[in-house]
Amino acid sequence: MIVVRMMKTVKIMNAVLLALSVLAALVRSDPPRCEPGDELAGKQEPLRPSRRSHALPARCTGMLLGYCDDMPYSQTVFPNLLDQRSREEVEMSTEYLLLSVLHSLLNGECSPDLRMLGCSVVVPRCDRDRPVKPCRTTCEDVRRSCVHAFEGISMAWPYFLDCDRFFVSEEEGCYDPLEGLRARQEVTLASISPEESSTIIQFIYHSNAQMVNMLKKTAAQCSDISHTYSIGRSFEGKDLLVIEFSDNPGQHDLLEPEVKYIANMHGNEVLGRQLLIYLAQYLCSEYQLGNKRIQSLVNSTRIHILASMNPDGYELAAAEVEDSNDPDGEQGPRFNGWTSGRANAQNIDLNRNFPDLTSIVYSLRRSRRFRNDHIPIPDSYWFGKVAPETYAVMKWIRSIPFVISASLHGGELVVSYPYDLSKHPQEEKMFSPTPDEQVFKQLARTYADAHATMADNNTERCGAPFGIRGGIINGAQWYSFPGGMSDFNYLHTNCFEVTVELGCDKFPAEHELYSEWQRNKEALLSFMESVHRGIKGIVKDKHGKGIKGARVSVRGIWHDVTTAEDGDYWRLLTPGIHIVSAHAPGYRRAIKKVRLPAHMQQAGRVDFVLEEDLSEAGLEGFDLELMDTYERFDPYNQYERYTLAELGQNGEERHEKPWWWSYFTQSGNVAPTWLLRND
Ligand SMILES: [Zn+2]
Repeated sequence: MIVVRMMKTVKIMNAVLLALSVLAALVRSDPPRCEPGDELAGKQEPLRPSRRSHALPARCTGMLLGYCDDMPYSQTVFPNLLDQRSREEVEMSTEYLLLSVLHSLLNGECSPDLRMLGCSVVVPRCDRDRPVKPCRTTCEDVRRSCVHAFEGISMAWPYFLDCDRFFVSEEEGCYDPLEGLRARQEVTLASISPEESSTIIQFIYHSNAQMVNMLKKTAAQCSDISHTYSIGRSFEGKDLLVIEFSDNPGQHDLLEPEVKYIANMHGNEVLGRQLLIYLAQYLCSEYQLGNKRIQSLVNSTRIHILASMNPDGYELAAAEVEDSNDPDGEQGPRFNGWTSGRANAQNIDLNRNFPDLTSIVYSLRRSRRFRNDHIPIPDSYWFGKVAPETYAVMKWIRSIPFVISASLHGGELVVSYPYDLSKHPQEEKMFSPTPDEQVFKQLARTYADAHATMADNNTERCGAPFGIRGGIINGAQWYSFPGGMSDFNYLHTNCFEVTVELGCDKFPAEHELYSEWQRNKEALLSFMESVHRGIKGIVKDKHGKGIKGARVSVRGIWHDVTTAEDGDYWRLLTPGIHIVSAHAPGYRRAIKKVRLPAHMQQAGRVDFVLEEDLSEAGLEGFDLELMDTYERFDPYNQYERYTLAELGQNGEERHEKPWWWSYFTQSGNVAPTWLLRND
């Protein structure tokens, strides 16, 4: 054992010595070759041809490579501008590999410009047996319009497209590598009339990677009003990516209401997921095109879009649909997408996995401690199986003062609203309204009425006669279930959530996506706009400082909303006269009478100034014990459990490589660390 180990040590020592002597010889004889990494860091001198290339006389050759065969010249030369010496060396290089996959990596954005720019470096134009360098101005133009595309996929700008290094000015005799492309584009542009400039959306299905790519690309394209963030990961480790739109992305603005859309909670219900990807593209591009309605929506609202809450389930459902190779597609998606992929990868139905606070409300109905809002999560909940997707969404909705939300599903054509759990344990279909029945009905109608066919009684239905109800229904009256997301939103936070069933077909054929977008577009926009209803304002003390966690109550509606960080609140209300009051521990209650006209374009502004009251009466009406348990989210550190799963064996943080990394490492090339961003 010892002998063997010693022999190994000796061998390693020899190998190291050999390597060192080779290195020493190299240092003495040859000038060092440029390493891409050094170039990025700016350490290296400008590229110098090595001695070997002097030995071989350069000759123009007609061998252009496959991915570069549309360049405006036909002769190239080796070594190229990267000092690669042969066609084979170029073909094996990561630089050339990158050019060949750029189109799919960037989802078509900036190609073919970028590819041709790269070709002008990798297979440069040859004139009189010498390489001719491409123009710096062309490089700078392309970089300016394409750098966002790289940011969108978290990739660094490739070192060999450095405009200062590999490109020269016109005085130095450059040529324009995109010359041919421009000529072709002019022809295409001439055939499009300028009035037709509107959002261009490709109505296709997006895989998980394509979805992430598209959302990041959209956010990069609209970086002034949009950004993406992850709220956590699915069981199989996929990012739960949210795209946000607001005039101040990344932060809450005082009095600006927040809205969320969630889709694909059931992985096999996919239409909502696609609609939300299109919605993001639509918001971005219409804002930029100067659409006044979209600009005013985005400037006055903070919009969060989670296109897929269950990406693992989606993958399963999509694979199954692909497998069912029915020639006419009639049987395929329609009958295969029903159950596969509904649950998450642990086989948990996410819309049954939230804390069942509705049962608590029903059981406490007659007790002194009865409350109908901000119900704490019972500790027993954490002993059950909590899916990471559920966990991520719970944390998310607790951390942002959402006002309204819609969760997009499929399989029916109707909007249902809380409660989803029947108030009678033995009644499976029982009308079980919340104290906000009127508000919920109004919200549900907003979507159904603006949808092309949902509220129409003559629409072909999926079985249930929702048409006669105008396309809306109380959830428990349809069918009762516990642990739903909408009930949780209403009973644990200030958010009013409805469930939108988009149609009978959970996985429609691709050619139906465009017409579905047309049917839902107005509804998606109107629903978001409806957040500007009812009243909003600030609850403050006499010094003008906002009071966090103050309660805003409406007489006759036993469900309070609470103020956000800076004392701002939103209370959806139907038109009419309301008696509204605000109170907080240690302050006297303030009361106001509010009249809301029928067609308000904005929420009415109602502020409250609370007088201090430190007597016992001032603390009345507050169950401090309940307030404490409300704040106690996740007492058993479920979150730690999920974070630990992302750590390596020794607890060190595992740096996730971006999704495109495998494109470059599978080929056996040296890993191109120059494509990784430093941030
Ligand atoms: Zn569903």
